[in-house]
Amino acid sequence: MSLSAGASLLPDVRATYSLPMRTRFRGITVRDGVLLRGDAGWGEVSPFWDYGPAESAAWLRCGIEAAEEGWPEPVRAHIPVNVTVPAVGPETARRVVAESGGCTTAKVKVAERGQSPAEEQERLEAVRDALGPGGRIRIDANAAWDLDTALDRLPLLDRAAGGLEYAEQPCAAVEDLAALRRRTEVPIAADESIRRAADPLAVRRAGAADVVVLKVQPLGGVRACLRLAEEVALPVVVSSALESSVGIAAGIALAAALPELPYACGLATVHLLEGDTVPEPLLPVDGAIPVRRPEPTAESLAAVRADDDVASRWRARLAEMAAHVGVAR
Ligand SMILES: [Mg+2]
Repeated sequence: MSLSAGASLLPDVRATYSLPMRTRFRGITVRDGVLLRGDAGWGEVSPFWDYGPAESAAWLRCGIEAAEEGWPEPVRAHIPVNVTVPAVGPETARRVVAESGGCTTAKVKVAERGQSPAEEQERLEAVRDALGPGGRIRIDANAAWDLDTALDRLPLLDRAAGGLEYAEQPCAAVEDLAALRRRTEVPIAADESIRRAADPLAVRRAGAADVVVLKVQPLGGVRACLRLAEEVALPVVVSSALESSVGIAAGIALAAALPELPYACGLATVHLLEGDTVPEPLLPVDGAIPVRRPEPTAESLAAVRADDDVASRWRARLAEMAAHVGVAR
């Protein structure tokens, strides 16, 4: 294959993994992706299937950075993390918190289609009960509410939770987040408005958020996120895109390198997968994940290897992403 001027080579593609999700999350039941290996180590590339090649290119840049460059020096050794409570009933919510590995912050999914406000209130009350008065509770509405619904629901949920740390992406539009923020006591966090927006800094200009959620793969890697964090100049919560531990390690590297880390991060998601790409997964102990970079082994990869059909779909997809990034294969 001939290289165009300035084009670099894609690192070795060592494995395509496929793992069932323990609970349906973000509408998916199986998580899959590819693992690259370069001089600096392992990298994961795992855009969700609803991302097209242009949007997925950022995910590939993140994997290439991990494999070829490695990451900046950490400034801390442990990353406090939250437990994620899906749109489940109160009994399950209580159990998820109890089995979280000592997390004292919970992120609770709300605005699930088909559920009533009462179900959300019960879930939040159960989570408060399980965490105790010292715990922190945040909610994530994944951009599902319009402004009026958000104005209606937030005070109710704030009361049910015994105080919310923040509400993540209650509305889709930046201007609605800004209007909501002016009219509520609950701090607002922007997630989708950062990672799927053409202009992530619009959130800051509009005064639309108190906190930003950064995810390393959709935002193009650890260094790209560090630059964005500096520009946006708001507190950062690093969250996962439901990666295996190889991908989570990149999120850990970002959280470890940020100058300030005032909130627990959303990186304790490996347990949502039925298995992992490494023998020693990045899971919390006493509510924090130690800063380290676990390595796959031949055995751990064999256990999660995708079938030929899935692997060939990923090869085709990777070629499209590589074309966007300008690396040769
Ligand atoms: Mg979110």
